[in-house]
Amino acid sequence: MLTAKVMLLGDMGVGKTSILYRLIYNRFEGQYKSTLGVEILSHDVVPADGSDPMRLVLWDTDGDFGTQIFDTVYVTGASAAIIVSDVTRPQTVTRMVELVRGFEERFPGRPYRALLNKIDLPEAVGSAGAIAELAKSLGKSSVKSVSAKTGVGIAESFVELAQTIRRRQ
Ligand code: GDP
Repeated sequence: MLTAKVMLLGDMGVGKTSILYRLIYNRFEGQYKSTLGVEILSHDVVPADGSDPMRLVLWDTDGDFGTQIFDTVYVTGASAAIIVSDVTRPQTVTRMVELVRGFEERFPGRPYRALLNKIDLPEAVGSAGAIAELAKSLGKSSVKSVSAKTGVGIAESFVELAQTIRRRQ
């Protein structure tokens, strides 16, 4: 089976672990231990177009690294990245943009998705303008609003990413 390493990046508390639990177990739990260093999970994505499944090896990293993650061995061999922010905390969106730029610099041309998480929260309503701006600056197809809590947007993001990885290989 085609296997691809995918980095999960983003500040602490934006929902990286919750997104992976939603993707893999279709569950949401209120509380997770914060990831120390790195946790590696594997998930097979079955594309809707009937093509072969792809194994994503998902590296859930400790958000404390910031953009210095790109200077560590954790990112070696990454095919793609899922870069996450919490839409109710603007500073995490700024950090997400920095991480996108860092990823593009370190891995030119490799696919990524920028996920604006927690759109289920009422505070997310005020951020529609900022989301539109971001979508414009990063390229619309790379940005998606999601919720690990309700599940909206999660599975699709990983399927689309897997399809993009396959097209580029
Ligand atoms: P990580 O540090 O990026 O891995 O973030 P976690 O997955 O540990 O999530 C941090 C907190 O945000 C936890 O209390 C989660 O329950 C909560 N959380 C994560 N995703 C969502 C979401 O989509 N909606 C809401 N309302 N809370 C979320």
